[in-house]
Amino acid sequence: MQTLEGQCQCGAVRYRVHGEVLTVFACHCRECQRQSASAFGMALWLRAAQLTLLQGAVQRWQRHTPSGRVMDCDFCPQCGTRLFHRSSGNGDVLSIKPGTLDDAPAWRPVAHIWTASAQAGWQPPDGVLCYPGNPPAWEPLLQAWRAYAACGQP
Ligand SMILES: [Zn+2]
Ligand SMILES: [Zn+2]
Repeated sequence: MQTLEGQCQCGAVRYRVHGEVLTVFACHCRECQRQSASAFGMALWLRAAQLTLLQGAVQRWQRHTPSGRVMDCDFCPQCGTRLFHRSSGNGDVLSIKPGTLDDAPAWRPVAHIWTASAQAGWQPPDGVLCYPGNPPAWEPLLQAWRAYAACGQP
């Protein structure tokens, strides 16, 4: 179990989250590109996460995915920074945007997904899993994270 703290860009929302980190990955799908307004989005998954808002409140937008799931997307109403995702098809997993963590530079994605729509010029780093679309199973991403974390990282 880990305790992580972070905040939105303007600082109106600060949070603490406690849980088991399952994996960290980058997603190059068009949704993540639009959401991040950048080349790719990142996700840090925690199981059974206990989320505490230390200050401020989030606003929720819901997205319906092509696979029929509903994704809760929480963001700061003041600056618009996306902070948390929960998907109706993903059990008790809370996905947070690791770029909002206080120690953001420490978090390394162990996989890149939807690389088929990666922005021009992007090259996969050495030693990461790559998938052209959604991975057929998530277990390899969880395994890769366990192996990485076992080496004393992050
Ligand atoms: Zn904000
Ligand atoms: Zn995506």
